[in-house]
This record gives sequence, structure tokens and C-alpha cells, in this order.
Amino acid sequence: METLRLNTLCGVDGRWNSFASNTLSLDDYFNPTDFEDAARIAVEKLTGVLEPRQTGGVELRRPKELTEAARALMTGEHGDVFNAERFSKIVDLYVETGINLNSRGYMARQFSSVLPVSAVFDMVSAMSPQPASYYEAGQLANVADKIIAQEFGRLIGWADDSFEMVTTSGATLANTTAVLTARNRRLSASWNEGMGPKAQRGRPAIAIGEDAHFSVSRIAGIIGVGQDQVVRLPLNDKRQICIAGTKQVLQAAAARGLDVFCLIASAGTTSVGANDPLVELAELARQYDAWFHVDAAHNGAFLVSDRLRPRLSGIELADSFCLDAHKTLFVPALCTLLFYREKGVADSAFPQKDSYVFDPFEDEMSNFQSGIKNFECTKRPAIMNLWLAWALYGRAPFEQKLDHLVALTEAAHSYLNGLPDFEVMHEPETNILCFKHTPSGIDHADLSDLQLQLRNRVRAAGHRFISKVDLDGATVLRIVLMNHRIELSDIAALVEEIRSHAQDILAEQAGLTGNPDAYAPLRLNVG
Ligand SMILES: *Cc1c(COP(=O)(O)O)cnc(C)c1O
Repeated sequence: METLRLNTLCGVDGRWNSFASNTLSLDDYFNPTDFEDAARIAVEKLTGVLEPRQTGGVELRRPKELTEAARALMTGEHGDVFNAERFSKIVDLYVETGINLNSRGYMARQFSSVLPVSAVFDMVSAMSPQPASYYEAGQLANVADKIIAQEFGRLIGWADDSFEMVTTSGATLANTTAVLTARNRRLSASWNEGMGPKAQRGRPAIAIGEDAHFSVSRIAGIIGVGQDQVVRLPLNDKRQICIAGTKQVLQAAAARGLDVFCLIASAGTTSVGANDPLVELAELARQYDAWFHVDAAHNGAFLVSDRLRPRLSGIELADSFCLDAHKTLFVPALCTLLFYREKGVADSAFPQKDSYVFDPFEDEMSNFQSGIKNFECTKRPAIMNLWLAWALYGRAPFEQKLDHLVALTEAAHSYLNGLPDFEVMHEPETNILCFKHTPSGIDHADLSDLQLQLRNRVRAAGHRFISKVDLDGATVLRIVLMNHRIELSDIAALVEEIRSHAQDILAEQAGLTGNPDAYAPLRLNVG
């Protein structure tokens, strides 16, 4: 077989690009007809996904079974011509096993149902890419970066040309990039010399809220600060960083010889969506000469809403902040905007001068190169998904959808608050709401475990998809309303479903039903 293949590749039989048992030419794989067929099939199927009455949660299959199903869809070793049926089945399998973001039962996570035109443009970007780090390779993408930055600058309240924005693939990278910038500015030798014993002001440390996203607490390990130098800031009863507590903790940290060079706030937190008190934290950071970064991955989008913008008061004081457009601006993942208040500082994140990255001279294009400010080299031009929708529709759909989702969450809060057998954990500041079911007949000590079982049963039943979160060591249920088609009646239906699962669980525990399979779904405890 190997010899045969080699012979044909070497042109022994006169057909350079054909393989032993495969008579397709390379052009056969790249022909426009297959492209059209595949695109038509995909569009037909995905149009169904947008059907307004969509319900259903997530269909969790066992990995082994799914692997078998996927294997069964693969052509043999020698390949085949484009097979529309095979393609169609692969799309079906993908959609079926994915989260139905447009379902009225989807309330689990921060993944967004996306603006359909942006999704279409995602394919345009894939077929005609502008790998966006360099102007010559991504002209419109780099221009769109600047335009979106200007649009947001106005909403933030920053003067044109006084600030800077880079796009990254996710808030995880944006947060890391911002803290790297802060580190390189405080410890300017660290980029070349590492984090050796040269620090002058004490051991470098970063301060983060107790509820900060796990990607934030990771950064200390990544950039060489070390987990032991992460200073945890206490929370108040709204689960925001507590200012009085922070003052004490920062004083104690300084007394221990720590140099907090970066203070990171959240807007909002992943657990309950809380916005930290940004104005006061900006002032505290200033007192300690620390960089002030806001992880606004979720609520940064409030900038586009006249009603919600006041909740982000103080974001304009941040040295840097990021927002995930793939969450609350409803464009395909990943698309994150990282803002720096001061123009020019973005160059400190990766102070490299390699010649293939950096032209030795500056010209009108230099200012549009994002490669030197960015972790990534080849990078999807994710900004196009946002700019395209903004170009077509303006700010309206973003503001409308976000306002609607937050109002809906507030309505869900009042509704649940009025029920005797539910306890809401907080006033919602965004489209995230945490609560627990407290049926009579259950020990207080078992409530936490009950919530976990309820989440698992709701998910396994497949009608709805919700999440859970641990607050102060106790599990509670969590909904994130990302689909604007959800109505209060869907929340009422969720309540009914939860009550019914709770009754089943209590009955099983009382030994009234001895069904050994009753707990089967619990064993498949994925994320
Ligand atoms: C989602 C989220 C992140 C992680 O962002 P990715 O875009 O998934 O990398 C970080 N912080 C907060 C507050 C988030 O909500």
C-alpha cells in the first residue's frame, strides 16, 4: 500500500495528484458545487434551530456511545466524494448534542444565542480570512477594531484617541494580558530577567475578590507571581468586594511585605453577577499605586444600554477592563474587547522587538497592527461579527436584548420571592439569578445536596437546562437568561418541574420507591 501510494505520488502512473485507490483530484475537494450543497444543508437545518417555540435542554450522551455514533459517520480509509447525506447526519449529530441556545428551556450558562447575521459572517471569515494580527493580513478587521473602539469610547466616556482597545479570544486571555501589562510596568526588568529577587517594593502580589472567575486566580501562576501571592478580598452581603474589609486586607498584605501591583475587580461575578464597587476600588488601587483592572466579561456590555450603564459607574476609572461580546453582546464566540484607558500602554504587555513582528519604521499602518499587543499570532477576526451587526443595526438590538434579559431576570426574582418553597439568594444585578428550593420535609443539612440532585435531574430530563453554583460552601441553583424568547411562564414551568423532581427524590429517600435506576443520571455528572 505504501509503495503504491508513493508510486502514484511520484507520478509513476502519470497522475500526480491522485492516490492509489482514490481517483479524486485535489480540485474535487475544493469544488464550488459541494460548497453550495453543504451550505444549503447547513442553513436549512440551522433555520430550524431559530424556531421561536424551541424547547429542550441538553441531551447528554455517554462519551463512549457518542464516539461510536461519530465513528459510524466516518468514511472508510480511502475517503469518498462529498456525500450530502453523511454531511447532513454530521450536522444533525452536532446540533443534537450541542446546547440549544435558542430554546426556552436553556437557562444554564453564559453562552449566548447569537445574532444570526453574525453567525453567517463567521463563515465568511472562515472562507475569506483576515487573520487579524497584522494590517497587511487583516485590513478591514484591524480597521473594524478601531471603529468599534471609538463607538465604545463614547459610551465609556473616554476622549477619542486617548485610549486603546485590543481584541482577544476570550476574557481569560484578556485578563492575563492586562495583568501582564501591569506586571511589566511595575517590574520593568521582569520580561527579560524573570521574576527573580530584584523586586524593590516587596514580593509582587495581585489582589482579587473572593468570587473572581477561576481564570483570574490562575493568572498569578501563569505569570510567575505565584498563587501564594494572591490576596483575596472579602465580600459584603451582596457578594461584592467589601471596601472596609479590602482596606484591612491590603494593609495586612503590605505589612507582610507584599507589593500588590494589580487589583482586579469583577463586573459581574460569574456566580451571581455582582458588580464590585468600582469607584471606591479605583481610589484604593490609586492609593496603593496598583494597576486597576476590571474583569467585566459579563456586565461590560451594560455600556450599550442607557438604563444599565449607571450600574457600571467607575469603569471609566479602570486602567484596563475587558468585556466578552460573545456573552452579552450576542455574537459568536470568541470575541473579547480589552480596553486600556491610556493610549500606548498596550505595547507593554509583550515588549518584544523581533523583526518579523515589528517593522523598523513607523508608517500609517503601524498603528493598526495588533500583533505586538496580543497573545495570539494567527487570530480569527472575531471583531467582524460584532462590527458587522453594529454596521447593519446600530446599537439598538444589543441594548434591547440586554435590557429585556435583565428585566426578565428581575421579574423572575419577584416571582420566586413570592413562593413559600423557594429562597432567592440575591437581588439580580444582571441576567443571573441564584436560588434554592426548600420543600417542607427536608432537613436543613440536606438542602445543599438536594439542589445538586435537582440540577442533575432537570438536566437529565432534557426539557430544561440550568446550572448550580457553590456559595459559601452550599450548593444553590443558578439560571442565566441569555435567550430573549424565555417568558415568565417558562420560569413557572421550571418551578413546577423542580417541585416534581424534589417530590420524587423525597419519596425515594423515604424508601417508597425502590427503583435502582432512579439515580442513574446522577452518575453522569458532567460540568
Ligand atoms: C466568562 C468569564 C470569564 C472567562 O471568559 P472566556 O471568554 O470564557 O475566556 C472570565 N471572567 C468572567 C467574569 C466571566 O464571566
